[in-house]
Amino acid sequence: MSLDGTYDDANIFALILQGKIPSTKLYEDDTTFAFLDIMPQTKGHALVISKWSKARNLLEIEEDALAQVMATTKKVAAAIRKALNPDGIQIAQFNGAPAGQTIFHLHVHILPRWEGDPKGFAAHGAGGEADPAQLQALADEIRAQL
Ligand code: AMP
Repeated sequence: MSLDGTYDDANIFALILQGKIPSTKLYEDDTTFAFLDIMPQTKGHALVISKWSKARNLLEIEEDALAQVMATTKKVAAAIRKALNPDGIQIAQFNGAPAGQTIFHLHVHILPRWEGDPKGFAAHGAGGEADPAQLQALADEIRAQL
């Protein structure tokens, strides 16, 4: 999928917003939703999405939706910092398959990073799909800081 295309109402994040597939929620308000990545690159890897925008990527997103997503990104990043005490926090966002995008509903990655750990993005996360119970326990820790 390139930068151009049509929004697919059945993309994974749309299905999460519709409640058709589960997610590990961290935070939700009227306009945004934050949850843990199912194949985390690092402990606490989170994603933030707009609940109303049908933007596939940064080039399509409405200014107000972008501001809402970034405000939630800041809020959730601060909670992750309090909960997990990382040495750094990477904010990432990919546009188009050649840039690494796999789900075409705009999303922002929040990646806590620790000194000495690998800095890259592995194809299926650092260790594949995470254990749902472990993700839930981590979400509880982060949510307690929100
Ligand atoms: P991107 O490569 O920027 O499109 O990122 C998509 C991200 O969504 C990847 O980090 C995936 O691990 C993550 N992901 C895929 N399916 C799910 C899901 N059902 N719940 C949470 N995260 C997911």
